[in-house]
Amino acid sequence: MKSGKRYKFETLAVHAGHAVDPATGAVTEPIHLSTTFERDADGGYSKGFLYSRNHNPNRNGLEAALVALEGGAAAAAFSSGLAAVTAIFQGLVPGDHVIAPSDIYHGTANVLKHLFGKWKVTASFIDMTDLDVVRKTVTPSTRIIWIETPSNPLLQCVDIAALAEIAHANGARAIADNTFASPVLQQPLALGCDMVMHATTKYLGGRSDVLGGAVVSRLDDEAFAQVRMAQLYGGAVPSPFDCWLVMRSLPTLPYRMQAHCANAKKVAEFLQAHDKVSAVHYPGLEGNRFHALAKKQMCGFGGMLSFEVRGGKDAAMALAAHVDIFTRATSLGGVESLIEHRASIEGPESKTPQGLLRVSVGLENGDDLIDDLASALTHA
Ligand SMILES: *Cc1c(COP(=O)(O)O)cnc(C)c1O
Repeated sequence: MKSGKRYKFETLAVHAGHAVDPATGAVTEPIHLSTTFERDADGGYSKGFLYSRNHNPNRNGLEAALVALEGGAAAAAFSSGLAAVTAIFQGLVPGDHVIAPSDIYHGTANVLKHLFGKWKVTASFIDMTDLDVVRKTVTPSTRIIWIETPSNPLLQCVDIAALAEIAHANGARAIADNTFASPVLQQPLALGCDMVMHATTKYLGGRSDVLGGAVVSRLDDEAFAQVRMAQLYGGAVPSPFDCWLVMRSLPTLPYRMQAHCANAKKVAEFLQAHDKVSAVHYPGLEGNRFHALAKKQMCGFGGMLSFEVRGGKDAAMALAAHVDIFTRATSLGGVESLIEHRASIEGPESKTPQGLLRVSVGLENGDDLIDDLASALTHA
C-alpha cells in the first residue's frame, strides 16, 4: 500500500504499517531484533533508526497500523496496556485532577490511586453514565476525563461525544480506553476524543499470547509529545516480537470482531432467558439500559458480557467449576472463551457483585458455548 488513498477498514487492517521488506522482498516482515543501528560515515542516521528504545522497524509498523485503524495522527506502542495508561498520566503535574468512571478497569484505578496519588494527582471515580454528575465533578484543575465504554465488568456505556464536549468546554482532554470495543466497533477519535488507549493484549493481539498497549492521538501535538517522552525516557516499550505478534493479528480483526459479536449476542440471549440468572449485562440486548446509546456510537456490541446468578458467590463458583469449553481465566479478546469470577480477582476494594461472572465470548461455535453454559448452570 504505497498511495495515500484512504482505504476502508478491512484493507487498512491488512496493509497499514505492513510493507514488503526492501532488503529481501519478504512478504511478511522480518522481526528486527537488533537493539542498535549503524551510523552513517558522517555520524548521521539516514535510515531513521538509532537504538531500539527510540525506534524499531516492527514497532514503527505497529504504530502506523494503529494510527490508520483508529483514524489518528500519531501512536505510541507500549509493553502493556497499563504502561500506556501510565504514560498518559505521566503528562500530568501535581495538582491536576482526573475524572474517571466508578466502573473502571481495576488496573487503571490502581495506577491513579497508588502510583499517581503519591504525586498529588487527584482522581474522582464517579457514575459517568449521568452527565450531570460529570459536570458537577469538573474543577478548574480537571485535565483528563477518562472514558471506558463499554466498561469493565458491568458493560456500562457512556456517551463519548457528550463527554468530549464537557471536557473541551472545561479545558480538559477526553481520553478513551477502547479495549473492549476495538477500533472495529467504535472510533472515539471521530466522536471527539483527544486520545485512545488500548490494551493490545486483548482483541488486537487476539490470541492471548502477547501483552501490549498503545496510545493513539487525534493530533500530533504537545500532549502526544508527553506520551512519546514517557515512552522514550520511561522505556516501557514492547519487544519487536511482541509488535510482530500484534501485527500478525490485525488483518483478521474485523472478521474476528463480527464473530465475537454474533456469538456474544446468542449467549446473552440464552442467559437472559435462564431462570437461575438474575441479570445479564450486554449492551446488545434490546432491553439493556445502554442499548440505544451503544447503537448510536458503536457498530456492533462486542464479545464481552457479564451475568449474575441468583445463588451468589457459591453458585457462581460452582458454575465456573463445571464448564467444559470455557476456560476459567482472566483477560479477554482471544479466540477461546473465558469465564471469570470477577470480584475475587479484583481484590478487597472490588465493588463487583459476588454472583457475577464475566465472559469473554470466543470464536467457538455459539451453540456449543450455550450447551456448555446450560450444563454448567445445572450446578449453580
Ligand atoms: C486488560 C486491560 C487493560 C490493561 O492492559 P494490560 O495489558 O493487562 O496492562 C486496560 N484496560 C482494559 C479495559 C483492559 O481490559
